[in-house]
Amino acid sequence: MELFDVYPRFNITPVSAEGCWITDVKGDRYLDLYGGHAVISIGHSHPKYVRNLTTQLHKIAFYSNSVQNPLQEEVAAHLGRASGLETYRLFLCNSGAEANENALKLASFHTGKSKVIAFKNSFHGRTSAAVAATDNPAIISNLNAVHQVTFLPLNDVAALENALSKKDISAVILEPIQGVGGLEMAQTSFMEETARLCREHQAVFIADEVQSGFGRTGAFFAFQHSEAAPGIITMAKGMGNGFPIGGILIHPDIKSSPGLLGTTFGGNHLACVATLSVLNVLEQEQMLPHAAQMEGVFRTLAEGIPGLKQVRGKGLMLGLEMDFQVADLRKKLLYTHRIFTGNSKNKNLLRILPPLRIEEKELQLLFSALKKELL
Ligand code: PLP
Repeated sequence: MELFDVYPRFNITPVSAEGCWITDVKGDRYLDLYGGHAVISIGHSHPKYVRNLTTQLHKIAFYSNSVQNPLQEEVAAHLGRASGLETYRLFLCNSGAEANENALKLASFHTGKSKVIAFKNSFHGRTSAAVAATDNPAIISNLNAVHQVTFLPLNDVAALENALSKKDISAVILEPIQGVGGLEMAQTSFMEETARLCREHQAVFIADEVQSGFGRTGAFFAFQHSEAAPGIITMAKGMGNGFPIGGILIHPDIKSSPGLLGTTFGGNHLACVATLSVLNVLEQEQMLPHAAQMEGVFRTLAEGIPGLKQVRGKGLMLGLEMDFQVADLRKKLLYTHRIFTGNSKNKNLLRILPPLRIEEKELQLLFSALKKELL
């Protein structure tokens, strides 16, 4: 049997990894400035993560949500403390798309309405409602297109107010910093206005923190660089450091009832231990302030790079916007300099999403490689 051919893949076969480094099948080492698409938060094979998951595997790996699972309550309590969002409630699932799917569904249950506002260049995942709220017609099938989604320009308060004033909007879904879209940032004032207008017009403000959450931008969630209070916050990626887990945080105004949401695998024992390990290491190793500090280091190192238009992003969700398309440069970084980087919808943007433990000396390797290629 062959694999269904949907992924363009690099010709590299990782077999092990540690911290910010990946080793391939030939024994060559690569610097991981991509984190498997912002997934590796505390670093590959962190000893505490490995130990905790191994111990849990020997106890019980999985049981369904038909029984008590105190690990889920531990995750909720720790997440509340770490994010400062103690009054929200937690629903656990398995991925970013599933988190957004549940958030959009819950908003519709809560408001009794079904229309959604999303933003130009958004990416929210590939399940039915999540993909319909994604600004990429190539991945939306006729089956998904039944969802009624309007795409507005980011940071346009007047357009948002006008759309919400019709009173038929169930949810506004927004990435505080667009990932796949190319690191376009929602202004803090725009997020605050979105929260206010959603309250005024009985819509739910969903902050999609699947990529920007869990400390990546130096705050626990990226919306927390503003004063906005979303109705629902979605998360995944860095939450499990590679173990599949997602979740949504739900404002106390939104009511639950038995059977409203559900999943077989969501919040299983191993997944909870993965997230608890991430939360503990983020705290113990002070990774949020470290991410904020590394942004400054990165910006300083980037000064004077030929062809650089601007550094985009926040914390360790960063990108170098060049005055040329970066596809070839990205290949050279990988095959010649053994450095993983990311791309986006913006063809001129080289994306940097490293594990949050990245150090200056590792970032320097990127910039000396860039100088060799560009000077
Ligand atoms: N939302 C955002 C902002 C993302 O960047 C992604 C994935 O890249 C998703 C949702 C979908 O997450 P997943 O691939 O885990 O379904």
